[in-house]
Amino acid sequence: MEARQISHHVFFILLAATVRSQVNPEMCRYPLGMTGGQIEDEDISASSQWSESTAARFGRLDLDNGDGDGAWCPDIMSEPDGLKEYLQVDLRSLHFITLVGTQGRHADGMGNEFAQRYRIKYSRDGSNWVGWHDRKGRQVIEGNRNAYDVVLKDLEPPIIARFVRFMPVTDHSMIVCMRVELYGCEWLDGLVSYSIPDGHQMIYRGLDVYFNDSVYDGASAERLTKGLGQLTDGTWGLDDFLHSHIYSMWPGYDYVGWSNKSFPKGYVETIFEFDHVRNFTSMKVHCNNMFSRGARMFRQASCYFRSGSDWEADPVIFRPTVDRQNQGARFITVPLGDRTASAIKCRFHFSDLWMLFSEVAFQSGSAVYNTSLTPRKSGHPTNTLPGDDPTHKVDDSNTRILIGCLVAIIAILLAIIVIILWRQVWQKMLEKASRRILDDELTARLAVQTRAFSSHHSSLSSEEGGSTSNSTYERIFPLCADYQEPSRLIRKLPEFAQSTEHLGPSTSCRALATSGSDGAPHYAEADIISLQESMDSSTYSITAVSMNLFAGTDSSMREFPRHKLTFKEKLGEGQFGEVHLCEAEGMQDFLDESIEGNNESPLLVAVKTLREDANKNARNDFLKEIRIMSRLRDPNIVRLLAVCVDTDPLCMITEYMENGDLNQFLCSLRLKEAADEDKAEEEEKEGNSMASYSKLIGMAVQIASGMKYLSSLNFVHRDLATRNCLVGKNHTIKIADFGMSRNLYRGDYYRIQGRAVLPIRWMSWESILLGKFTMASDVWAFGVTLWEILTLCKEQPYSQLSDEQVIENTGEFFRDQGKQVYLPKPPCCPDGVYNDLMLSCWRRNAKQRPSFHDIHTQLMESLA
Ligand code: ADP
Repeated sequence: MEARQISHHVFFILLAATVRSQVNPEMCRYPLGMTGGQIEDEDISASSQWSESTAARFGRLDLDNGDGDGAWCPDIMSEPDGLKEYLQVDLRSLHFITLVGTQGRHADGMGNEFAQRYRIKYSRDGSNWVGWHDRKGRQVIEGNRNAYDVVLKDLEPPIIARFVRFMPVTDHSMIVCMRVELYGCEWLDGLVSYSIPDGHQMIYRGLDVYFNDSVYDGASAERLTKGLGQLTDGTWGLDDFLHSHIYSMWPGYDYVGWSNKSFPKGYVETIFEFDHVRNFTSMKVHCNNMFSRGARMFRQASCYFRSGSDWEADPVIFRPTVDRQNQGARFITVPLGDRTASAIKCRFHFSDLWMLFSEVAFQSGSAVYNTSLTPRKSGHPTNTLPGDDPTHKVDDSNTRILIGCLVAIIAILLAIIVIILWRQVWQKMLEKASRRILDDELTARLAVQTRAFSSHHSSLSSEEGGSTSNSTYERIFPLCADYQEPSRLIRKLPEFAQSTEHLGPSTSCRALATSGSDGAPHYAEADIISLQESMDSSTYSITAVSMNLFAGTDSSMREFPRHKLTFKEKLGEGQFGEVHLCEAEGMQDFLDESIEGNNESPLLVAVKTLREDANKNARNDFLKEIRIMSRLRDPNIVRLLAVCVDTDPLCMITEYMENGDLNQFLCSLRLKEAADEDKAEEEEKEGNSMASYSKLIGMAVQIASGMKYLSSLNFVHRDLATRNCLVGKNHTIKIADFGMSRNLYRGDYYRIQGRAVLPIRWMSWESILLGKFTMASDVWAFGVTLWEILTLCKEQPYSQLSDEQVIENTGEFFRDQGKQVYLPKPPCCPDGVYNDLMLSCWRRNAKQRPSFHDIHTQLMESLA
């Protein structure tokens, strides 16, 4: 919520508070002191007690301590109807009570007694007792269902009393125990009873309208005496007396009213008795004024005063201006001229056929009243918890309400501070998680399980020395702190937008970019790559012998005589420099083996050369890529044949892949319909640019196979994509690019503050948000790669989303509220492959993603 809105609301809270009445049933809900202790032990009594340890004084709600047994429990209930046993609270003065709370005896699990039902009786003077009932006449209140929960019940109507009795009701003789609390506020009015003629019945257009005082708690005859009722229940009637706020009540329910015809003298006489002699300032009477239906405010009030036994002769007479325009109900204030009295007799003179009152209130001495009482509440009362501060028993001034509001404002501010702090802690946790992985020193270590490795590569095993370590190959993007949370990242985007316009999504086959033309730091130069040892593999704990690829030179990769390389043509341009097709004279002899499927001599090879102006970081990364590749040997991993590193420029010599990278290769193809598969095969053989679905899946199988190999070494590639796979003869696919150099496909990468560029459209949510790269995040990237293959790389993943939106989408994956966007099913992709394979690669929970072994098997099966 905005600050302006908050201040707006606070203003209205303050405004509302200042115009509230003294007795506003909605506000008047303070605990009166059973729990808080403001009610003394001596003011709590009972009809009987089971034992001294269950005496009345132990009947305090929420208190379960002291020398007692945890509640008040009466003697065995001989009269189960709730008429004999009671727990009595003396509030010492009149209170307006709106809510009661009850609880059973728990006693730390020792007790299990509670009152399922109970009645309430109350008294203002301690001798006349009234049984409370609701507006429909029901006296029994549903109580507790267990020994520990507090059950709160709104008293509708509220009661004005000094003494209150809780009377448990049981179906049979049994022990019941109770703890109780009363909620309300002090009744400053001082009115102990009013006496009025009982209300009349109106027949309005065939409708019975009853104006009786239905909640009057005194004696009811023709005249009501010694009680209080609707005129002091703190609520007032609607403009239209036929309607009531209270559901299912009869027409006229809100008002007490009289017909002019029954009063030959033309007035209704009311008598108000007070607790003691007071100095009266004014009286406010809430009147109906619906003159179109015959009801109108009084035209004159004559009030007589009595301090002793006799009424004083000189009345205060007040004649309000009778409103003949506005039919709205209203309070009329009758000034009482600071007269002293303990009783007031007022005669209200009719000005029409009917006179209807819903509320009467008095101002006397220090008891200050506001005119605004609350309208009758609609529906069922709410069981909101009352205010916490039991000292706020007296709701006698706006100051107290203002203090309450200030406390509320402070509470709101504290809540806002807590939320802000909580957010910061959350961010820090994310940063921590990320930094655990991100190594600023960019160390590059690689360790593998000797046994697993040597079974594939016996030639390597003897060369490795060894510290024991459980290791995982992993490459790490060092990210700045901003790279933790999408929103923070996105806030930075205007800066990027200026410097990296070229990063926008492409929707067609991407064009070759020129090397280093943007002058921005390259991926490798920006210290992007490192290999990090993972300590998280108990599988290797005993037999594992690690080998550190980067400790010392790697004797497995031999230096090839540079002069034996003959330049043929430029194949492409990478992050490190150019890649050339060369003839390597005597390579077969040099390797002492023939290259799979290639017996030509001189052998055609690809030579990747490090730019001469490359900085130290780029040089290190180049060497790292050499070290990594020298350890990998698999039919679906591009093979490093030899190196030229004794002199500059540094070169790596790899097997030549005739058809270049998979992205460009696929981009130039068209998909053949399934029906034409055979034809497509033939056309492919002829070099035609057609591809069949099965051929595409065949490519994916090869990539899965290569990844399966890498995962067997716990090697995390971190940048799997079609652009990083190469295509040889007969659609052989090999995974390449272990150095993460990018230039050609820079649009696929997202630059973080000019420091790191990231393939966000291929990255899992946890890689983006937490900097966490695992085999499971490679699986995620494989899903995207499969999608690229099946769409023939005709568009970039999420091409309709900007980089910022892709990162926002990552946030949705993190939040997992069903708002994340998935790549759509490629047209040629069967439902099964999309639902069971592709989508499973993008599961939020990394553990639920399939392994490359599973993926490989699944793809093989889908081919069968
Ligand atoms: P970078 O990853 O820095 O972009 P690469 O190693 O991918 O650099 O090489 C750039 C381009 O050179 C590739 O996109 C590909 O077209 C070509 N290329 C690289 N290695 C070979 C290879 N072994 N055989 C054929 N072409 C290659």
